[in-house]
Amino acid sequence: MFDLPMAIMQRMGIFGGFMRPFLMIGAGLILIFIFNLLLAKYVHRDAIRRHHPHAEFWAIVTLFFSVLGLLVYAVLRGDYDLLAEKSRTTIDRSPAAIEKARELVTFRKEPQFCPSCGEQAKPGANFCFKCGTALR
Ligand SMILES: [Zn+2]
Repeated sequence: MFDLPMAIMQRMGIFGGFMRPFLMIGAGLILIFIFNLLLAKYVHRDAIRRHHPHAEFWAIVTLFFSVLGLLVYAVLRGDYDLLAEKSRTTIDRSPAAIEKARELVTFRKEPQFCPSCGEQAKPGANFCFKCGTALR
């Protein structure tokens, strides 16, 4: 993969001599930067998925502190996971909603009978299957 650029640099005389250690360090830094960039991308995506309010902040932290930033984020993100979960499940406590829930529960628990012919209705049925009377 790097054969061609290396060959070009060798021919140009860049690769040899006093430049060599600097090139090695530069290549190393570029590799570390690419690695951090991938980690930051993962953190950013994960934070958005969890509705984390500071996704960009943690992406930048990971970009600069690499695995250390990722670890700190991984430890702290749990709390935000719970917060996101709480905000998603808002319970409707209005009397109408409670009554509706109660109806559903009793309907599921007890068998319903047709008020017209007395036949036991099938669970979830809106009409009596025998005489056709509306059950709800
Ligand atoms: Zn009936």
